[in-house]
Amino acid sequence: MNKKNTLQAAMFAEMQNKDLFRKAKNHAFNYLNSAFDRTIFPTEKALQNLEKFEESMPEKSGNGEAIIDLLHLYGTPATIPYNGRYFGFVNGSMIPTSLAAKNLSIYWDQNAAMHIMSPITAKLELVVQNWLIELFGLPKHTVAGFVSGTSMANLAALTAARFRLLKNKGWDVTEQGLFGAPKIRVVTHTHIHSSILKAISLAGFGKANIESVDCDEHGRIIPENIPELDDSTLLVLQAGNVSSGAYDNFEVICKTAKEQGAWIHIDGAFGLWAGATKRLKHLTKGFEHADSYAVDGHKTLNTPYDSGVILCQDEEALVSALHTSASYLESTNQREGMYYTPEMSKRARAIEMWAALKYLGKEGIDEMIFGMHERAKEFARGLQNIEGFEVLNDIVYNQVIVQCETDELTLAVMHKIQELRECWAGGATWYGRKVIRISVCSWATTSEDVNRSVASFEKAYKHVVGV
Ligand SMILES: *Cc1c(COP(=O)(O)O)cnc(C)c1O
Repeated sequence: MNKKNTLQAAMFAEMQNKDLFRKAKNHAFNYLNSAFDRTIFPTEKALQNLEKFEESMPEKSGNGEAIIDLLHLYGTPATIPYNGRYFGFVNGSMIPTSLAAKNLSIYWDQNAAMHIMSPITAKLELVVQNWLIELFGLPKHTVAGFVSGTSMANLAALTAARFRLLKNKGWDVTEQGLFGAPKIRVVTHTHIHSSILKAISLAGFGKANIESVDCDEHGRIIPENIPELDDSTLLVLQAGNVSSGAYDNFEVICKTAKEQGAWIHIDGAFGLWAGATKRLKHLTKGFEHADSYAVDGHKTLNTPYDSGVILCQDEEALVSALHTSASYLESTNQREGMYYTPEMSKRARAIEMWAALKYLGKEGIDEMIFGMHERAKEFARGLQNIEGFEVLNDIVYNQVIVQCETDELTLAVMHKIQELRECWAGGATWYGRKVIRISVCSWATTSEDVNRSVASFEKAYKHVVGV
C-alpha cells in the first residue's frame, strides 16, 4: 500500500474511529432534546456570536472535531427551531422517521442523477412517484421529478409547457430557442406566488407579457374574468394562497381551459396536500384536469429540506425540456432521475419523502394535514376572542391573516410578538393593508401551542397600546 500523506491519513483515521461523527451525533441529539423548548428565535447574543465565523480562509488543514465543536458552539444557538410555535412563512417541521431516513442516507451520500449511480435511489423515486399518483388521484402516466423545492418545480413545469405549446405549433424550442418562436400567452392572476413570476422570467416568457386576472377578496382568481384561452396559452393557477390559504376554483376553470387547448400548471407548494386527504380533498376538486403541478415535501408534508416535486402528465414534454445527453452518460432502459429535473448530480431527496409517506400512510396524512387546519381554526378563534385583532380570511386550510386597527399598530404588534420569542409570525400586505400571517405547518403544533401563542399575541398587543 502507498504511504498515505498526512491529510489522507487523518481522514482515513476519522472515518475509522468515527469520533467526529459521534460528536456531531451527540450535539444533534442534544438539539433534539431541547428542540421543543428552545426560544423560537436566536437571542441577540447568539446572533452577535455569529461574528466568530468571520475569519480569513485557513492556510492549513484543521482538526475535524474542533470544527464540529465550533459549529455547535456558535451555530446551534443561531438556528430557528422547528417546534410547534413557529408560524412564519410556510415553514414545515419534519417527521422523525423522515429525518432518520435522511440521516442514514447522508452516510450513503448517493448521487440521484442516474439509476446506475444509485439503484436504491432510483427505486425509491419510482415508488414515491407511484404513491403520489395514487394519493392525488392523478392518471397513471403522470411522472415525478425530485427537485429542491417548488421554485424549481415551477420552473421545470413551465419549461415543459413551453416545449409542448410550441411543439404543437411545429416549433422545437429545445433546438430553435425562443427567438422568432410563435408567441405563447401567459395567463395567471394577481395573487400568484412570486416564484411563478421568477419562473416566468427564467423561462423567457417575460413578466410584462403576463395577462393578469383579478382575484376575489380571498385571493382566488375570478373565473369569469379569465380571457378566452387557446392552444398557445399557459394558464397558471394556485392551490393554496400563501397568505389566505385559498384555492383557485379548479372545478370551474380547468376542464374548460383544457378544452380550449391551454396548458394548465398548478402551484400547490403547500396546498396540494389537501388533495391527498379525505377531509380537505374538496379544495382541490377538478385539479386532475391540469397538466403539471408543483408541490413541496418540506412544507405541509414535513419532510426535511430540501424537497420538492414536479408532477407532470406529459412525460414527453417534461423530459424533452430537461433532458441532456453526453457520451459518458451511459443510457439504460431505466428511469433516470435527472431526465425529470433541471439538475444532474443531486441529493437522493426521494428517500426522506418515501420515509415520510411510508410512516404516515394515507390515514396519517389526513390526520396531520387536517390537524394543521384545525389548529389554524383554533388560532383564528382565539384571536377573535381577544381585543385588538381582526381575522381577515376564511380558514379553509392552514393559513390565518390578522390585522390590528392601523398598519402602524399591526407592524408594532408583530415586532413585539417576534421580540417576545414565545412564537414567531411574519408579515405581509393584503389588499393594501399590513397583516400578520400565521401558517400552521408543523405536525408538532398542539392546541396548547396555539393557546400559548394567542396569549403572546395578546401580551404584545397590550404592551404596544400600553394597557
Ligand atoms: C413556498 C412556496 C413556493 C416556493 O417554494 P420553495 O419550496 O420555497 O421553492 C411557491 N409557491 C407557493 C404557493 C409557496 O408557498
